[in-house]
Order: sequence, then C-alpha cells, then structure tokens
Amino acid sequence: MRIDLHTHTRASDGTQTAEELVRAAKAAGLDVLGLTDHDTAEAWEPAERAAEEVGIALVRGMEISTRHLGRGVHLLAYLPDPTYPPLVAQLRKILDGRSSRVPAIVERLQEAGIGIDLADVRRAAHGTAATGRPHVADALVSLGVVPDRSTAFRQYLNPGRPAYVNRYAAPLVETMRVVIESGGVTVLAHPWGRHGPDSLPPDAIAELAGLGLAGLEVDHQDHRPEDRQRLREIAETLSLVVTGSSDHHGLGKHDHELGCNTTAPDQYERLIALAEASAARSGRETPGVVG
Ligand code: AMP
Ligand code: FE
Ligand code: FE
Ligand code: ZN
Repeated sequence: MRIDLHTHTRASDGTQTAEELVRAAKAAGLDVLGLTDHDTAEAWEPAERAAEEVGIALVRGMEISTRHLGRGVHLLAYLPDPTYPPLVAQLRKILDGRSSRVPAIVERLQEAGIGIDLADVRRAAHGTAATGRPHVADALVSLGVVPDRSTAFRQYLNPGRPAYVNRYAAPLVETMRVVIESGGVTVLAHPWGRHGPDSLPPDAIAELAGLGLAGLEVDHQDHRPEDRQRLREIAETLSLVVTGSSDHHGLGKHDHELGCNTTAPDQYERLIALAEASAARSGRETPGVVG
C-alpha cells in the first residue's frame, strides 16, 4: 500500500487539474491519494469522479492557513463536512484575505519597476478562489522576470522582501475546533518546516494534542532527518498519528514528487478510524473515503 495524503491542484496553487492529479497519482503507483488544496474543497467533485474512474482511494481534505503563537501554521483537515457553516465562513475569510492583498502586492512590484498588472495574475490563477502569492510568482515567471516560483518568493514575495504583504490567517485552536465539529480530523502539516523545532515547540504540540489534534505530518521534504526522528518520538508519546506526504504541487514546487514520502498503512487506518469517530460524534453528513 502506497499512501500519499497531501497534494494540491489548480484549485489552489498546484499546476494540475483534479483529473490530471488523480491520473498522475495512479501512474505513480499510489493506492491512496489525499487531496488537500489550500482553504478550498473546490476540486473534490472532479477528483472523486476521476478516482472512481481510475480506481484509486481518495481522501478528501484541505490545508487551512492558520496562525498560532505568532507564526503561520498549516492545518490539514481530512474528511470534514465542507458545508458546515462555521467552516465555510472561516475558509471564505481566509480566501478573501489572500486575494484581497494581491492588488497591494502588484502595486509594490510596480513600485520596484516591474511591468506587471492584476490581469497578469488573474491569468496565472486560472480562476481559483485561492489566488495568492504563488500565482503572482507564476505571473512573474511568464513575464520573464524570474525563472521559477522559488526565485519569485526569494526575491520579491517572502517576508522582508519588497513585495511582501501580510494577510489574514485563522486562529489555529478555533479552526481545529471547527474542523472537529464538522466531523473531520486534523493533522499539523510540516510542523517544523520553516524553523525546525522553533516553529512549534513540543509543549505547544502537546497542548494541541489535548485539544483533539489527531496527527503530525512527520515525513515531509521540508523536515530534516533529525527533526523527523524527534517528531516521530513526540507523536508516539502523545499517541498522535504519524503521516508522510509529498505536498505535491505539480510543477509548482520542485522535489515534491507524488509518493516521495508516504504514510504507513497502520497509521492511515488509525487516521480513518478517528475520522469515522469524529463524523459519528458530529452527527453530520461527512464525505468518507472514495473507492
Ligand atoms: P499565500 O497564501 O498567498 O501567502 O501563499 C502561500 C503559499 O505559497 C504556500 O502555501 C506555498 O504553497 C506557496 N509557497 C511558499 N513559498 C514558496 C516557494 N519558495 N516556492 C513555491 N511555492 C511557495
Ligand atoms: Fe501551496
Ligand atoms: Fe503547507
Ligand atoms: Zn501543502
């Protein structure tokens, strides 16, 4: 069993359609694919159809942009009821915060002497609701300003660079509660991806475990081997599920190929069992695994 629980489509900042992603996952030999676009369930329907067609199990989820202890934290939500009104409202707020700052980013780029306008970004965003810095980066690539997304972030879009503009992110603890109430389960995406253990200290992880966190994404390309080891130990101590995933973005991120990290079958079974228990407690109509 090969299980990859964290991937993106063009509904957020991946470069593949849902159909392309599902077919690519099948071709890469995956048995289970987790679809986790940033802050949107837009690709769920086409992905479900494609998964049934090609014969692959599909776990529908999302990666929610939150903030905790002054830092950005990405929260993976698996199998939530996407129609639960508080969840819908929170996602709306995040998406609005992300896209409403794009004009300010474009203005700063113009002030830096770059000939870019909003239409360039809109073209790069393919109509996604999750329009953000990755699409500004794509516009800069198509204008020939930078060779790739990473360079665009490094030179212009990261904090401290000339075109960085802050945005709204949802409070982590409140968002976890909303996801759980909606019948889903929560996993911290790449918890030590940015600054190693300083990103989120072990005692903060323990506190989140007490609030119903289900798992930690341990095997991720942004984690160093020593951090993976330490996170695995923390997960074991706290009885958290350990996941491993590619965080595939199509051509949008290098070195994140489908299946480059995977989740162990026993950990996957635990995660799904926890999701089923959460769904039962919520009394809501939740999506369930396709296939
Ligand atoms: P935003 O939500 O508009 O602030 O954009 C954040 C998203 O940009 C993240 O979720 C990443 O997927 C993507 N991103 C951040 N840094 C990079 C990078 N260096 N290269 C490619 N994508 C990136
Ligand atoms: Fe992304
Ligand atoms: Fe992320
Ligand atoms: Zn991701």
